[in-house]
Amino acid sequence: MGVIEVADLQYRYGGSETPALRGVDFDVEEGEIFGFLGPSGAGKTTTQKILIGLLDDYEGRATVLDREVKEWGPDLYRRIGVSAETPNLYHKLTGRENLELFASLYGGAKRNPIELLDRVGIADAVDKRVGAYSKGMRMRLNFVRALVHDPELVFLDEPTGGIDPTNARAVRTVIEELRESGKTVFLTTHDMTVADELCDRVAFIVDGRLSVIDTPRALKLAHGEESVRVEYRNDGVLDSAEFSTTDLGTNEAFQTLLARNRVETIHTEEATLEDVFIDVTGETLT
Ligand code: ADP
Ligand code: MG
Repeated sequence: MGVIEVADLQYRYGGSETPALRGVDFDVEEGEIFGFLGPSGAGKTTTQKILIGLLDDYEGRATVLDREVKEWGPDLYRRIGVSAETPNLYHKLTGRENLELFASLYGGAKRNPIELLDRVGIADAVDKRVGAYSKGMRMRLNFVRALVHDPELVFLDEPTGGIDPTNARAVRTVIEELRESGKTVFLTTHDMTVADELCDRVAFIVDGRLSVIDTPRALKLAHGEESVRVEYRNDGVLDSAEFSTTDLGTNEAFQTLLARNRVETIHTEEATLEDVFIDVTGETLT
């Protein structure tokens, strides 16, 4: 049984002509990082909001931790952690006070908040008011807040949005550690790097529909023509050549090149997840 099970999920915002979700199906298994990858407006945040119980006028089926979302009461928030796309923090309170308040609502702090804040580079700001935080700092506090009560299932909406590259990497490392400790993560992003590096499986979403669900590796292998690119010196002049990876062992041109020239670099060139996304959906990720 999946930790999250979704079947024919549909949603239309009041007053809107077009549905935001047009029949979405997927399951998330225990212990995996499952990614929703898609451009702005695709329906990622809407899906997360349904799964965390914020929009209960959906159609179709959406179960989280073995119970239909509509039937969950506030107890759900003791078992899940939520980092929303737009942090809803108390600006007049300090970072520490925000964390203490949320932990007290959701079962107490089971992880050391200061240690988590330190991991993502904002421990120094713990006693400053959140009103004085930058957007990236709020995102990181929001992220930490989702984890302090040590939930078994974590929802992260654009977890590295607005965060500088170094701290974004720190956030990605903490997410990987969640998987190592057996937690399940549902993650939405339009960032190809996040999806490719972190997710065990990704679903591509465009205009409220999923097109494929698979591992990033399988998607890249299925859609990319894999080749190796060799850079070599030919009479002292740098030159390069490309060969298909399928028959390298018997490819005479490749063998001759290796025998006769000084090779400087050899790289396999595979499709990026973004290439695959464009190939499958006909859309770009921005
Ligand atoms: P994503 O997170 O993938 O960028 P969203 O789930 O936020 O996409 O949005 C999906 C669609 O629903 C978009 O067309 C968006 O304009 C629309 N939408 C989102 N929130 C609302 C709202 N509160 N009212 C009306 N339409 C909305
Ligand atoms: Mg969104």
